[in-house]
Amino acid sequence: MTIREIKAKSILRKYKKVETWFLTCYGMNLYRGCHHNCVYCDGRSEKYRVDGEFGEDVAVKVNAIELLRRELDPKRKRTPFKRGYVGVGGGVGDSYQPVEKKYELTRKTLQILYKKNFPVHVLTKSTLVERDVDILKEINEQQRAIVSFSFSSVDDKISSIFEPGVPPPSERLETLSFFKNEGIACGMFLLPVIPFLTDKPELMEESIRTASEVGVDFIVFGGMTLKDGRQKDYFYNTINKAYPELITEYHTIYKGDKWGNAIGAYYESIHRTFNSIAKKYKIPKRIPPHLYRDILSENDRVIVILEHIDYLLKVQGKPSPYGYAAYSISKLQGPLSDMKGDLQRLKGVGKVTEKIILEILKTGSSSYYEKLLIG
Ligand code: SF4
Repeated sequence: MTIREIKAKSILRKYKKVETWFLTCYGMNLYRGCHHNCVYCDGRSEKYRVDGEFGEDVAVKVNAIELLRRELDPKRKRTPFKRGYVGVGGGVGDSYQPVEKKYELTRKTLQILYKKNFPVHVLTKSTLVERDVDILKEINEQQRAIVSFSFSSVDDKISSIFEPGVPPPSERLETLSFFKNEGIACGMFLLPVIPFLTDKPELMEESIRTASEVGVDFIVFGGMTLKDGRQKDYFYNTINKAYPELITEYHTIYKGDKWGNAIGAYYESIHRTFNSIAKKYKIPKRIPPHLYRDILSENDRVIVILEHIDYLLKVQGKPSPYGYAAYSISKLQGPLSDMKGDLQRLKGVGKVTEKIILEILKTGSSSYYEKLLIG
């Protein structure tokens, strides 16, 4: 394993539109590459241009803290910062991977975000996050902190094959329970489930039931993508060694889509299974409104809920105009409440959507949405 110290040009990424899976308006990668070395990690694909051998080589942005201080200095900024969670946990490197013990970039980042009064959403697979409970509690009291863990299932044995560098799911669940007891909102990202292994209804139910017993506030679910090239080659190599009998089945669902998607029928089937189990345990399938009502701007609250409705309908195979309406709203300069009575002028907004928007503006949520969320 190698560790390379590099200097980044910038650190804080501002999203064009609120990110509705994680509720973040800003994000950052403190490390490039990840010693956790999950076999399915899409950070390995050529698309992300991570130098070196993924899983072995990690680059540490040693000037990240200095950059962050500068980038968050209001004197240097013409427009005010957006209200919204800052995402701590990168797609190309877990913020609590082993190098964090030495460099403490994530801890120092949290300290700065606390001083600057930002809410934080941490997504990790490492129990090292417990080290920062003190600062996360301070952030939670001042604004809000959410601690989420990702899982492919709660099966320790399967995890040891596909997630060789992370603590087993049983320990991750203990850490979630620890944060819940500290009064911090927690989520499970059951993402990605591994086809033909952790997507089986019995194992999915065990994962959801266990998370529900821990008291998670939501479970966000998703299937696996597999892009041609390094990601697919590495994954198939492991399947050939550990489960050679499954390789033909993989070929039937991953057919070289440029985004790495499996065929639609596969995703529809696992979502059906997930939805029926989540309904049984009454678990929200997206981050619920009470965790962002007081955090996001009114336009972003509406965008999040409309995009969530759009997603929840589409995974049931139903048509939806709500994603288009959310997109139109994301282009607005002023607050939606200034347009009351005139909302149908927005592209994608008809009578029904208008009613939903008005309810969100008044109450912070929508009864139609709440039903979909746990129904
Ligand atoms: S922890 Fe996340 S970033 Fe790291 S290898 Fe696993 S999936 Fe990739």
